[in-house]
Amino acid sequence: MKILGIETTCDETAAAVVTLGDDERGHILSNEVLSQIAEHAAYGGVVPEIAARAHVEVLDRLIARALQRAGTALPGIDGIAVAAGPGLIGGVLIGLVTAKTLSLVARKPLIAVNHLEAHALTPRLTDGLAFPYLLLLASGGHTQLVAVRGVGDYVRLGTTIDDAIGEAFDKVAKLLGLGYPGGPEVERQAANGDPERFALPRPMLGRRQADFSLSGLKTALRIEAERLEPLAVQDVADLCAGFQAAVVDVVVDRVRVALRAFSTVAGHPTALVAAGGVAANGAIRRALTAQAGEVGLGFVAPPLPLCGDNGAMIAWAGLERLRLGLVDDLTVPARARWPFAEAAPAA
Ligand code: ATP
Ligand code: FE
Ligand code: MG
Repeated sequence: MKILGIETTCDETAAAVVTLGDDERGHILSNEVLSQIAEHAAYGGVVPEIAARAHVEVLDRLIARALQRAGTALPGIDGIAVAAGPGLIGGVLIGLVTAKTLSLVARKPLIAVNHLEAHALTPRLTDGLAFPYLLLLASGGHTQLVAVRGVGDYVRLGTTIDDAIGEAFDKVAKLLGLGYPGGPEVERQAANGDPERFALPRPMLGRRQADFSLSGLKTALRIEAERLEPLAVQDVADLCAGFQAAVVDVVVDRVRVALRAFSTVAGHPTALVAAGGVAANGAIRRALTAQAGEVGLGFVAPPLPLCGDNGAMIAWAGLERLRLGLVDDLTVPARARWPFAEAAPAA
């Protein structure tokens, strides 16, 4: 089984081919990603119109290249998976219309994939992980703790009541005059900083629900930064280190609460998993590895290129759905908003 995956929900145009081996494991045959970071950097964030236009300009060629590098062509493909949301609607429409057209012309099943579900299922592609597992999904637009019980069976144990973690990293970077996207920049700066110089808050610590709140932390950091104006190189490094350390403390505390809630909705997890762009953060990975170890669980996070947006995760989610007979028809809509997990019953 070979699936073509198409991703255009944000600022990455991506196409990939994934196959199912005789070992029942997924194998990536090609994974083409074109980032638009350069086009958006001047604005300090993603500009939807620019993103949509950039997707149109490159998607056809990128798909052709993904098929070629996988040593196949459309007739050799068993299904066409596309991220149909959530995301910037202009970009989502471009991917979806392209996928529908290919599906119609090549007479291949169409699988409309939820972008967040694709992030959530990636560890099954990379590590062959079994259900159920506890997922921290943290990206530019989302922060959720989810019990992943099966394909299409997700229980949300916590979410953010304001900013997403990646968004907070991006805003802090902008505030400190660092580049976009902010996560990698803040992490780089933090490596040279003193995490204890500033006493930054740890919002939500100790709360019974596994929810996040990041905006108070960001505001506290802004106040410290304004007090220090103009910022010296070491100030920036210390602020980044303080911010990252606070995020790590919050994440570890929220995951602890979610691990407790997990057992009531899903039993015993096979692993603790991090996915989404923020899962690329080394400090968060190290903290979660230690935390998982303490409770006798493994920690799994996709390799860095598969943490951010990519086509392989869409293709894999499509493969998981197709083998369960879950396909879509040409009327499937593009969705700017598309929650993928049911909220857990109140604790
Ligand atoms: P979504 O998946 O919610 O639609 P998105 O597509 O923007 O949003 P991803 O591409 O999965 O999200 O992740 C991008 C986000 O990850 C950005 O906010 C970026 O700052 C953050 N990020 C990337 N690398 C790191 C890092 N090393 N540390 C912290 N955050 C990071
Ligand atoms: Fe994403
Ligand atoms: Mg992105």
